[in-house]
Amino acid sequence: MNPVNADLHCHSTASDGTLAPAQVVRRAHANGVDLLALTDHDELLGLAEAADAAREVGLRFVPGVEVSVSWLDQTVHVVGLNIDPSHPALAAGLHQVREGRDGRAGQIAAELDRIGIHGALEGALRYAGNPALVSRAHFARYLVEIGIARNVHDVFLHYLARGKPGYVEHVWATLDEAVGWIRGAGGVAVIAHPGRYRLGHVEMDLLFERFRDLGGEGVEVCCGAHDGGQVLAFSRVARKYGLLASRASDFHGPEDSPVDLGRAPPLPPDLTPVWTRLQ
Ligand code: AMP
Ligand code: MN
Ligand code: MN
Ligand code: MN
Repeated sequence: MNPVNADLHCHSTASDGTLAPAQVVRRAHANGVDLLALTDHDELLGLAEAADAAREVGLRFVPGVEVSVSWLDQTVHVVGLNIDPSHPALAAGLHQVREGRDGRAGQIAAELDRIGIHGALEGALRYAGNPALVSRAHFARYLVEIGIARNVHDVFLHYLARGKPGYVEHVWATLDEAVGWIRGAGGVAVIAHPGRYRLGHVEMDLLFERFRDLGGEGVEVCCGAHDGGQVLAFSRVARKYGLLASRASDFHGPEDSPVDLGRAPPLPPDLTPVWTRLQ
């Protein structure tokens, strides 16, 4: 275990997590986390509540966000750590991304309607703690509720992943915008769960080169989405590009996440943890 039990990526009901921000903080504290970042998708709404709860239990809290980005033909997520939530350019950029989500949610519902699944927008909204932030995860929970699939994983496999009937192509922020907003707000930009992207070696190198040139500083090495081989692969990426390493559960809720708060594997000891930049 690293001396610090840091968890620098998780979600609350401000986006597609199932626990309120204060509940996330209290669960992290109970799990032994001593440095926590809440990083809701494209949204800063939960940060004030989380910061208050962290103060109450004596947990070090880092305000964060996970920005949705389109890179080549993929969606890539960029986590911003230690951002100033009141920074106008960041707030305005995220507002724009959330507006794009509204239109996409309607399109997803229309696609599902075409294959006989009706009322999906209303259904998804019932699961959305924040109506300004509808995620595919909310659609997935509704589709499980009405018996379309056994679990959320199967919904993505058959309905919501790319190439499936409920998938809608969408243009998110650019990498330049996301890193610019995060840095402009005083934050540290980190590439989230790189093992999830379907990028070849050349494209992956292009992503990290561009990210570093823009002033990106970190990469998630140990996270809920990575197996042992991916931890080794992205440790090499961190060394190659001189990036700081992050540790993150990407927790979405007790029923939804394979890795609980604070339970991602420890970082390889030779890497420089991103929290050395968060002092
Ligand atoms: P969105 O940002 O609306 O495209 O939704 C992406 C979210 O859906 C992710 O942050 C996860 O919460 C969830 N998600 C994506 N793929 C899967 C999957 N295969 N299984 C379960 N949840 C997923
Ligand atoms: Mn999510
Ligand atoms: Mn993500
Ligand atoms: Mn996430």
